[in-house]
Amino acid sequence: MKHDTIVAVATPAGVGGIAVVRLSGPDALPLAQAHLSAPSLPERQAVYCRFDDLDDGIAIYYPSGYTGEPTVEFSCHGSLYVQQALVQALTDSGARLAEPGEFTMRAFLNGRLNLSQAEAVADLIDAVTPIQHRLAVSQLRGGYADELRALRQQLLDLTSLLELELDFSQEDVEFADRSQLTQLVDTIGRRVDTLRNSFSWGNALKRGVPLAIIGRPNAGKSSLLNALLHDDRAIVSPVPGTTRDTIEEAFVIDGIPFRIIDTAGLRQSDDPVETMGIQRTLDAVKRADYILYVHDATQSAHAITDDLEQLKRLTPLDKKHLLVVFNKVDLLPDAPPSALRSYPVSAKNGTGLDQLAQALAQAVKADRAAAPEVLLTNARHLDALAHVGQALAQVSLGLSDGIPSDLVAVDLRDALHHLGTITGEVTDDEVLGNIFSRFCVGK
Ligand code: GDP
Repeated sequence: MKHDTIVAVATPAGVGGIAVVRLSGPDALPLAQAHLSAPSLPERQAVYCRFDDLDDGIAIYYPSGYTGEPTVEFSCHGSLYVQQALVQALTDSGARLAEPGEFTMRAFLNGRLNLSQAEAVADLIDAVTPIQHRLAVSQLRGGYADELRALRQQLLDLTSLLELELDFSQEDVEFADRSQLTQLVDTIGRRVDTLRNSFSWGNALKRGVPLAIIGRPNAGKSSLLNALLHDDRAIVSPVPGTTRDTIEEAFVIDGIPFRIIDTAGLRQSDDPVETMGIQRTLDAVKRADYILYVHDATQSAHAITDDLEQLKRLTPLDKKHLLVVFNKVDLLPDAPPSALRSYPVSAKNGTGLDQLAQALAQAVKADRAAAPEVLLTNARHLDALAHVGQALAQVSLGLSDGIPSDLVAVDLRDALHHLGTITGEVTDDEVLGNIFSRFCVGK
C-alpha cells in the first residue's frame, strides 16, 4: 500500500459551473495549507478562501475522508485552466497525480468499503435508470456480500475446528460437529445457487434486457428499431457491448433498459436466399430474453406460423417472451384485429409504437416482480460463486462418503478462498487492478 498523498480533479473532465479538486493522503492538510489563504482549516467545515492567486473557492478538510485518510477538497470555478493549474500547483508541492480509481482503492484498503461495495460505487456512477441505481445502492449498502461474509465466518470457524482435529489425529477426537457442518454447507450451497440463478436477471437489468428483433427481409425490422431508438419516449443510452470497445444500441422505456441484440446483423442487407437469415436469427434469439417478431402486415399471416414453427424446431422458445408485431399498418385499409401479444404498428408514421413499448416494459416488470429481490449483477462474483459451488459440492460429497478430514478441509479452504474474493477478505493485486481500472481518474 502506498502512503503518499494523491491529487486529482474529482468532477467530470471538462468545463462546468464548479470543479472539485481532491487531495488525499498523510500530507493532505499541510500541502493544501501551503496554497490556501485561510490561516487554518477546521475539521469538516467549509472555509471560503483563496488558492494561490488562481481562484477563490471553498476548502473542506476531513481528518478521515472518503478514502479513510486525511483529505482536503477544494471547490473552484469549473474552468479547465483553473482545474489544471490547481492540480499542477499541488503536484509541484509533492502530491502525486492519482491513478484511475485510486481514491476508491484507498477507501477499500483502509477498510471504508469492502470490495463488493467499491464495485458498487462504479455501478452507481454508471447507473442511468432507476433500476440500475437501485441495484447499485443495494450492493453499496451491503447487499448479499454482508450475508456471504457472515456465512463465510461460520464456515471458517468450523473449518478451523476440523483442522484442529488433525493436530490431535492420534487421539480420535471430533471438535467440528459434522451435522452442523453439513447443514452449514447446505445452507451456503443453496444461497450460492439462488444468487447464481439470479444473475441473468441482474445482468439484464444492469446492462439492458436483451431484445432481439427478427422477421423476414423487408418486414421493417430496421425501421422499427430506428423508430424505437428515436422515439421521444425512449431515452437512448450507449451501453458497453459484450466485446470490449463496442457500443450496443440501447434504449430505456419506463425505466427499463433494453439492449438490442445483433444490430450489426439488422443493419446488413438480408440474404435473400434464406427466408429469415436463419443462422443470425438463431444466434440473436438464443442470446435474447425478449423477442419482437416483425411481420409485414400487407403479407399473408401464414408466414408468422411458418417462421415460428421453424424457429421452435431449432431452439426452445418457451422461456422467451415473444411479441408479434404487425408492421406497416399504414398501408392497410383497416387495422388488423388485435390479438393477445400481437401489436399493430407503423414504423413509418409511429402508430402503435407507444403500446408496443409499454407492452415490452410491462412484460419485464411482471417478470421482475416474480424474480428474487436480491440480484447478482457482478460477473466477477458470478465466477467466484461458481468456484464456491464446486468446492462445496466436493465438501458435501466428502462428508457423506466419510472422506478423511484433511481432504475435506482442502475443499473447505477452497470454498472459503473464493467466498473471500467477493468481499475482498482475499485479494490479489491483479484482481484489484482490474476492478479499480474501471473507474475514472478522480474517483
Ligand atoms: P428489414 O429488412 O426488415 O430491416 O426492413 P426495413 O426496415 O429495411 O424496411 C423495408 C422496407 O419497408 C423499407 O422500404 C421501409 O421504408 C419500408 N417500411 C418499413 N416500415 C414501414 C411502415 O411501417 N410503413 C410503410 N409504409 N413502410 C415501411
